[in-house]
Amino acid sequence: MNSATIKKLFPFFNAGASTHPKPIYVDNAATTHKPQSVLDSIINFYTHQNANIHRGLYDLGEGATVLYEQARQKVAQFIHAKKNEEIIFTSGTTHGINFVAQTWGKQHIKKGDIILLSQAEHHANLLPWQQLAHETGAILDFITVDPVTYMFVDPLEKLSSRVKLVAITHESNVIGSIWQSESYLADFIAQAHQCGAHVLLDSAQRVSHQSINVQKLNADFLVFSGHKMYGPTGIGVLYIKEALHSHIPPYQKGGGMVHAVSYHHATWAPAPHKFEAGTPPIASAIGLGAAIDFLQPHLTVPDLALHEQNLTTLLIHYLNQNDTITILGQAHHNAHDQHLVSFSVNNVHAHDLASFLGTQGIAVRAGHLCAQPLINTLGLESVTRISFGIYNTIDDVVALCTAIDTGITLLQRLKS
Ligand code: PMP
Repeated sequence: MNSATIKKLFPFFNAGASTHPKPIYVDNAATTHKPQSVLDSIINFYTHQNANIHRGLYDLGEGATVLYEQARQKVAQFIHAKKNEEIIFTSGTTHGINFVAQTWGKQHIKKGDIILLSQAEHHANLLPWQQLAHETGAILDFITVDPVTYMFVDPLEKLSSRVKLVAITHESNVIGSIWQSESYLADFIAQAHQCGAHVLLDSAQRVSHQSINVQKLNADFLVFSGHKMYGPTGIGVLYIKEALHSHIPPYQKGGGMVHAVSYHHATWAPAPHKFEAGTPPIASAIGLGAAIDFLQPHLTVPDLALHEQNLTTLLIHYLNQNDTITILGQAHHNAHDQHLVSFSVNNVHAHDLASFLGTQGIAVRAGHLCAQPLINTLGLESVTRISFGIYNTIDDVVALCTAIDTGITLLQRLKS
């Protein structure tokens, strides 16, 4: 895979071609840049194809409907769903998780039931369950993260007949890969089902790095965001296994999701429409379809995962040369496919380092990364995170590491 050639497909990196230093963007776990093909698909839609969907009985409206439903089909194929109807368009991962908590969760979770999460959840997969637990009297329990190996500690031991839902990250936005393997995760899900639990997977950090097979995993719900996989913001996916459709009420009510309405009653259209009230983000869904067209060829062969692993290995090699840096989960990073590294530095606040790197045209993330309980459990308040994407190059890593060294020396000198 030639990442330098791929970078040329992204207008963001060409727009400031004459500026120096060239931007180095290594905050891909937060959001990714968009290739020209995604931008074109959106501009083309608004220029030539714009109409509402599932409503207009004219060519333009029917054409827009076809494009939107084709995007759904692309997503279904992308995650190997059995049916297109299992794909619900949302505004993002956060929306998808709140959707499940407030619909399926409210109907099926009762006082004393256990909702099993992990210590490594993003706030998006913690706060909706905290709210549901407060509303229902359910209990939250957490699979622990081993502070040395950074893997989950005996997840199976947390399963029991009281666990009604396991809502868990597919990959951590702080420490990356966290499951020993995809087949281990599938076994865990099978065991959760044996205990009578349903399983929601937060795949926000997985989806742009490895291909997902939701049928093999056999998750009941799976969520991700378009903007972290080279698609637009404002569009996300909630996969709901078909067998559950009739057990889940609509999240929101309005146009486009009814079978019949009288002044006092309404019946719902079948899924996915009953779950998509109102005018959906049509252009963004089409843009997500274009992002899948762009990304999928790199996921079906392991070249992207390999490329990102190589960049990560090189980054770790550099960071290890500075003994004031502590990498979160060093051993863990050596053993698994990785695309992100979080670290802390003696006597240097992560925000100061990130601000310094910002002045050098380098975008990294710093803080508690919306995973404050995990960061605190690890005895920290904040970390700096480098996360790679398809367009990052070895040159990016070299320039980044030089800037990190300079920044740390400068900031440590200011403190001494
Ligand atoms: N889960 C994980 C693991 C994430 O990394 C993120 C975004 N950082 C989210 C959920 C929330 O995604 P969004 O803000 O797109 O809804």
